[in-house]
Formats: sequence, C-alpha cells, structure tokens
Amino acid sequence: MPRFLFRIARSETQQKREFQVELEDRMTVLDGLFEVQRKLDPSLAFRCSCRVGMCGTCAMSINLQPRLACQTRVTTLESDVVEVRPLPHLPVLKDLIVSLEPFFRQWKKIRPALHRAKNKDPKKLVVVPPDSLFGEQHENKWNCITCGCCYAACGIVGLSDKYVGPAAINKAMLRLLDPRDEMVKERLQVIDDSRAGVWRCHTQFNCVAACPKKINLTDSIMRLKRAMLKTGKFHDKLSDPERTQI
Ligand code: SF4
Repeated sequence: MPRFLFRIARSETQQKREFQVELEDRMTVLDGLFEVQRKLDPSLAFRCSCRVGMCGTCAMSINLQPRLACQTRVTTLESDVVEVRPLPHLPVLKDLIVSLEPFFRQWKKIRPALHRAKNKDPKKLVVVPPDSLFGEQHENKWNCITCGCCYAACGIVGLSDKYVGPAAINKAMLRLLDPRDEMVKERLQVIDDSRAGVWRCHTQFNCVAACPKKINLTDSIMRLKRAMLKTGKFHDKLSDPERTQI
C-alpha cells in the first residue's frame, strides 16, 4: 500500500506532528486521520459525522485548500505529503476542530429562514416554474451544507469580521428570488451594506474553488451587485414576479 506523510497541526503545542500512514488508493484524508487516531496518537481531535459529503462537519484545510476530508481521496492530492490544518478564519477549539460560530453569526444576519408572504394563502401551493430565474438558481445553488469552506477560503473574510461571506450572500439571493418569501428590506439592508455586503467581494473566486457542492457563489454575488444598482429592486417581487429578474 502507498505510504503518506500526514503533517497535522496540533493546537496544544502550536506545532505540527508528522505520521507515516499506509492507505489504499481509494481511501480518503478522513480515513488517514482515523488511522492516526487509532494506531499512532489517540489524542488527535477532529470532527466528522456522515462521511458521505452531506453534513460538512469534516471541513478542514488540506494541502492549503479548504475541503471535506471525507470527500478528498489521498491520491487526488498528487503528493506524498498531506498537510492538515484547521479551517482558517475560525477559532480553533482543539487540533482540527474549529468553532463555526462566526460563520453562523454572519449567516443569521441575512435571515436565512423562509418568511412567508402574508398576503398569500398559506394553503395554496406556489408553483415555481423550472425555467423561472428562481427555478434555475434554486437548481444550482440550493445545495449548501453550511460547511464553512467558502468562508474559510475568502480573502475578504480574513480582512474583515463584518463581511457576511459568500454562503450567506448566496442564501440571501435565493430568498430574495423566492416568490413565497417576503422579507426583502431586512436582507437588502445587509447585502447592500458597504462593510457587510456584496460590495466587499473582490471577485477572487476562492469561494467557488473551495465549495464541495460546486456552487458558483461568485455568480450569486455578481447577480446581487447588478440588482443593487437598480432602485427598488425586489421590493415589487410579490406583486410582479417577472420584475425580480436579475
Ligand atoms: Fe460549504 Fe459551499 Fe455552502 Fe460555502 S456554499 S458553506 S463551501 S457548501
């Protein structure tokens, strides 16, 4: 079996420790961390849950790129050295475990839950045509698992704790386009804010490269930037859904 050198950041010593691990080609970085924990260092702390890329819990920096450890096969790294660190821009709790509290603090600012339009009959089904803008964007951008990879990869998040970050902006765009939702003013206040919102994005595409669900977050940010330049955008969405085109 191929051997890999795992170089893992440890929080207690503030240093990296190295471990030689044998892994089959099909095995992942998460498998390698379990090998270390079971056979070499039981004190190593990391977090995982579903192991199939659905929960986002095992997000960490792998060879300097935020990724899901359970979805990263060691052979795809094309390196015998696997450098593993906690996600940047987030407080480290222990070893590879970070607190996502700053990510969710920003996420909550854009009011991610559905706020139903009061003038609509809640018992009446809303039909969203797949070729409407919400139908199209929903298809491509609804799969966020709140793993925090885009937040950790974003250079602007690293410079400012006010910026809400790519995942929150993407969620805000989907809610603003959603014909069932009426919370417009509150979300626009956040995403049009010069320090917190879309104007902070420098279009570096780091978030797009990091997203394990392949969500084009920069596209969402650019769409909202264009929409922000149109006066009254989204305020009329409930009376005339056609005018929510961005
Ligand atoms: Fe993770 Fe992608 Fe959601 Fe960002 S947008 S939190 S990278 S799934």
